[in-house]
Amino acid sequence: MEIPFLAQPDQLEAKIAEWQALAEARLRMDYVTSYSGHRVYGLSVSDFRSSTEGRRAHYFAQPHAHEPGATAGMMDVLEQLLTGRDLYGEPTPLDVERVLAKTVLTFNPIGNPQGRAAAPVPFWDGSRYTNDQFWCWMRGDDSDHPGHMWRRLDEWDRRVERAPEPVGIVYEQIDEYRYVEPNRSQLSAYFRLFHQLDARYHYDCWLDLHQTEFVHSPHTCEILLPIAGLASGSIAEVNHKWGQRIVDAWIRAGFRALPQPVPLGYTGEQAEYFRRNWGALHQRMNIISTEIKNNAPDAPPQFQMRAQVIAIQESIKRLLED
Ligand SMILES: [Zn+2]
Repeated sequence: MEIPFLAQPDQLEAKIAEWQALAEARLRMDYVTSYSGHRVYGLSVSDFRSSTEGRRAHYFAQPHAHEPGATAGMMDVLEQLLTGRDLYGEPTPLDVERVLAKTVLTFNPIGNPQGRAAAPVPFWDGSRYTNDQFWCWMRGDDSDHPGHMWRRLDEWDRRVERAPEPVGIVYEQIDEYRYVEPNRSQLSAYFRLFHQLDARYHYDCWLDLHQTEFVHSPHTCEILLPIAGLASGSIAEVNHKWGQRIVDAWIRAGFRALPQPVPLGYTGEQAEYFRRNWGALHQRMNIISTEIKNNAPDAPPQFQMRAQVIAIQESIKRLLED
């Protein structure tokens, strides 16, 4: 059987049309339009026949075009919530009727569709590109150091920077000259969509779905907590408990997960980007991230998708229990 790995903008659009025809009362579709003309979708699932007031509101998103396993995982869980079966046709383990009655779940499956559409492969499994080549696709090839990836900037302007050609797919173009990394700039469609929907649903949790290469690591998945100090008190405690729950589920499923959640380790400029864009949100709501292995033979697309599905399912189950 072909792997139902849905991660491209046209695949998302086709599924949205299918889901709208099938499950109108449980799906609300919103979007913002990127400078490139792509729609960046927020798909909200609940029982919309009655008021959603008082329901737990949970946001799921992914900012990075080079991490398609995060999209494929969200697409599979959306299929479960809207049809009762996953994309392989198996019944969902989720109690869908209870989920719909008690929660509002919003998914942004492709935060940067312009970047995703520019990727040379539907998923990164290590069979065609080394990590160095992959990283040059991600951030662009540095013309001063050919074969090495270009810089990681929150926002940049091609009138100022000597930009790589082609521009790395991690970047979203926001006007004729400027580009942003979506989770490091409020100017991204990713953040604009969140704020628009947050004004309506007032989310109290956000699972951000990522992938990384786990170079020289025995692990293939991990949970990242906010940079130390950004979340505190009961928010930090709940973040940790929630993260541990996902880690435990991965280990039960046979994945080589880092056994405990760990804080995001950035320092310097990258940490400053996070403090600026996420600091206030970490004080207000629970936010943790997945990292699932990317671009390696021991991380095939089925694994990438499955690991994200488990993280999303555990996050949903948790909402029904507290
Ligand atoms: Zn990422």
